[in-house]
Amino acid sequence: MHPSAPTLTFLGGAGEVTGSCYLVEAPGLRFIVDCGMFQGGREAAEKNRRAFAFDPGGLDFVLLTHAHIDHSGLLPRLAAEGFGGPIHATAPTVDLAAVMLRDSAFIQEKEAEWSQRTAQAAAGRHGGKHQARRHDDNAIDPLYRMADAERAIGLFTRHRYGEAFEPRPGVRVLFRDAGHILGSASIEVTLTDAGCGHRIVFSGDLGQPGHPIVRDAVTVPQADTLLVESTYGDRLHRPMDATLDELVEALTGALVARKGNVVVPAFAVGRTQDLLMLLIRLTREGRLPPMDVYVDSPLATSATRITLQHHSELDEEAKELGRWLSTSKGWPRIHFSETVEDSMFINSIRDGAVVISASGMCDAGRIKHHLKYNLPRPECSVIITGFQAQGTLGRRLVDGARLIRLFGEEVPVRARIFTIGGLSAHADQGALLGWLGGFTQPPGHAWVVHGEASAAARFTQVVRDQLGWAADVAESGQAIVLPMQPGSP
Ligand SMILES: [Zn+2]
Repeated sequence: MHPSAPTLTFLGGAGEVTGSCYLVEAPGLRFIVDCGMFQGGREAAEKNRRAFAFDPGGLDFVLLTHAHIDHSGLLPRLAAEGFGGPIHATAPTVDLAAVMLRDSAFIQEKEAEWSQRTAQAAAGRHGGKHQARRHDDNAIDPLYRMADAERAIGLFTRHRYGEAFEPRPGVRVLFRDAGHILGSASIEVTLTDAGCGHRIVFSGDLGQPGHPIVRDAVTVPQADTLLVESTYGDRLHRPMDATLDELVEALTGALVARKGNVVVPAFAVGRTQDLLMLLIRLTREGRLPPMDVYVDSPLATSATRITLQHHSELDEEAKELGRWLSTSKGWPRIHFSETVEDSMFINSIRDGAVVISASGMCDAGRIKHHLKYNLPRPECSVIITGFQAQGTLGRRLVDGARLIRLFGEEVPVRARIFTIGGLSAHADQGALLGWLGGFTQPPGHAWVVHGEASAAARFTQVVRDQLGWAADVAESGQAIVLPMQPGSP
């Protein structure tokens, strides 16, 4: 082995879908790709607080694949703990990450406030001040504060797709469209040293071809080391046509046949904009009735505004639909509610409204109010469009609960619940293989990341069997050597 061979360590997003973080080290060089928050499951909170496996102040730079919080969410902590170098990302990712990190900091501060109040109340009951301390020190401090988010946001550096840059001598970086959400990128990093080189490709989160709004993922010709995501590496999505038929049925059933409303819990960034685009498209095709669409989430509103600002990054269909909507002067009418009053007004509407609100899994945010008003009404529909984790309110609705609790009250579920699975922002197995098919020669080694254990294992087997590549599931904490090859890659 070359004595100065670089290494790559899988610190998160290995054997799981959240907490993406990959560390690359070589003599005189140290950087990470993504710095994501862990989400879901009991250990997530603890993992988000554990010490970084590297000195944040010792990193030269950070590369960010896209704005989703499971890829960007710990950047404020990184900045708070001494990182002051540049964070390189595409321009739309920089804009989306700014609103997401501020939103995340706001949530962290609110949760800490809440835990402080609970701890104080407990201390009061037990008649001792020190009791609160002992309760749980971690629960009292926010993971990070708004000032930390602002510090991280100040480190972002914008790049264009397809234009290579050198963050340090001997390191060349290229962002390519990943087709997942606005700004999402696959990242190619080429390391060179003394006439040798090594090319690493990070797939990032890859989208399904034909996904609304964003252009399809761009394939990559070569890699010495490849990291490929596998969220849905073990399954195929329903075809888009069938998905749109389901969406039309769910909407028209409530809006036309039963004269009710439709409530759609949706992630604020990505999913909400996808849904708006599909509603415009289906209205234009004459498949939907005139309707008022309310986007009730400040984060979704910001993300939609940013999406429109990055017009040049949209796919042709989205541009065309945008032109059509601006000249049609008609339906659907899209309203963005900013204030709490705007949000409360929606609760007084009895029919003809489509309400898109967050959180996507129904366990926080304004969506809970809309569910409270519409779930008891048999004329209404709730459309679930995203993955619902175990233990969330969304999951209970999907599982057919007849009675749920909201704000301490029992709410009967009489509305119709539709689960539409075909709108995922992640590529399915066929699309992942399609993207891998763009390589003109097998990568030196493929590491399967960003998937639950079973999906990652299944996909690794498929890559070995169908493509004949050297492939393995990446293990959390595992370090691999990146052998420098003679000749510049
Ligand atoms: Zn993502």
